Amino acid sequence: ICTNQIEGRSTQKPHAVCLPYPAQGHIAPMLNVAKLLHARGFHVTFVNSEYNHARLVRTRGAAAMAGAAGFRFATIPDGMQAPSNGEDDDVTQDIPSLCKSTTETCLGPFRRLLAELNAAGDRPPVTCVVSDLIMGFSMDAAKELGLPYVQLWTASTIGYLGYRHYRLLIDRGIAPLKDMEQLTDGYLDMPVEDVPGLKSMRLRDFPTFIRTTDPDEFMVRYAIKETERAAGATAVILNSFGDLESEAVEAMEPLLGDGNGKPKVYTVGPLSLLAPRSTSSTISSLSLWKEQEECLQWLQGKEPASVVYVNFGSIVVMTSEQLVEFAWGLANSGQHFMWVIRPDLVRGDSAVLPPEFLTETAGRRLMASWCPQQEVLNHPAVGAFLTHSGWNSTLESMCGGVPVISWPFFGDQQTNCRYQCKEWGVGMEIDSNVQRDAVTGLIAELMDGEKGKQMRKRAEEWQEKAIMAAKPGGSSHRNFDELVRDVLLPKT
Ligand code: UDP
Repeated sequence: ICTNQIEGRSTQKPHAVCLPYPAQGHIAPMLNVAKLLHARGFHVTFVNSEYNHARLVRTRGAAAMAGAAGFRFATIPDGMQAPSNGEDDDVTQDIPSLCKSTTETCLGPFRRLLAELNAAGDRPPVTCVVSDLIMGFSMDAAKELGLPYVQLWTASTIGYLGYRHYRLLIDRGIAPLKDMEQLTDGYLDMPVEDVPGLKSMRLRDFPTFIRTTDPDEFMVRYAIKETERAAGATAVILNSFGDLESEAVEAMEPLLGDGNGKPKVYTVGPLSLLAPRSTSSTISSLSLWKEQEECLQWLQGKEPASVVYVNFGSIVVMTSEQLVEFAWGLANSGQHFMWVIRPDLVRGDSAVLPPEFLTETAGRRLMASWCPQQEVLNHPAVGAFLTHSGWNSTLESMCGGVPVISWPFFGDQQTNCRYQCKEWGVGMEIDSNVQRDAVTGLIAELMDGEKGKQMRKRAEEWQEKAIMAAKPGGSSHRNFDELVRDVLLPKT
């Protein structure tokens, strides 16, 4: 009986369970991993939080979320309270609360899900788990079943090191802060030397959660715990490519390693270039907001590199004063612009723009609430990207060959911004206390100045390198093949 069972199973497809962290910037790269595995013959179960799944059904329709052949969705609760305002759609969940809640509550539901999938007769048994690195609780469930366990780190590798080196900042007495005045008295500008894998860092370039006076701050402990826990994974995959972050990747490997080359670290990015363009609407993209296709139509016919594209991603919130500074900065630049304002972008309020701004910019602007960003950044009309430097946006701007003006908000965005400006030559930073004149000045420099020309050239060089990495024979393409062969496919 045993032999028959084993033989029966070996003719079945391998089955990967993909578990993203439930936020937009994590779902998109995990979907790309899932698509790649599906295209290589894996049965895929993609696990959403119940909250996000309900949103996806609203934005994409129940049919699209019903799954496709060999690609199913499953859900687990995220443990969060429903938003207290009663409007449960289109609201970005608070990230620290979500980190806490997933860590504390999701292991049980995930364990039960794996058991259910294995008991279900209509799909092959689970053969591997691919989890977001910050959903490290899932390691226990995968290991109990003896499954290969791969973690996807969806931020930058330099960001990983920034978090991982929180311990070093604490050991050196640089963090935590002595008092909150250190946020504004120049303390954050202190250079931090000799940080393995990172260059020309100041304290302000580390992921922001370290800006605290509390040595037991949840996000600090969480960042250290999750980044260290990755050492127990079978492999770690990075949405990055060799040319871009090789020094950081080289510094990461020994930090994780147990001395026997485990876990192996694979750069497989940019995943958006590596993943197959899907013809099935089910797995084409998973946007938590409805994409406005008219954005692409609006770009049609515009001069090459003539439009400033403004989008701060899925999590950033700003004050209405900041919104107004950006608005006048854009208006006074005289440029054409496309500005995507998420319904919950402005803290505690809906975004209200001055009527004079709307009159003044009529005919040279498009306002939207969510767009197909990758297509926008790949459109030849886009000449500059005003961004928060989230890692997906950073990679997507490089893939589109578009230089950036960066207004980092939190997490690793500060680290990404530092590298965009100092190391990769593709960006200029706006002060966190944004002023309209600074916005106008940087737009002029980027669209018409000598510096802008240089940065566009660098962005185009990165674009070429990213394409090379993701092509058959390129480093990320080879690494993904190796990952599938050596780690994810069941050993016969
Ligand atoms: N995105 C999009 N349309 C929008 C805004 C964002 O498709 O209007 C996508 C964007 O392409 C990226 C993701 O949402 O893939 C945002 O991820 P990122 O890491 O840049 O920032 P986060 O939202 O996590 O802060």
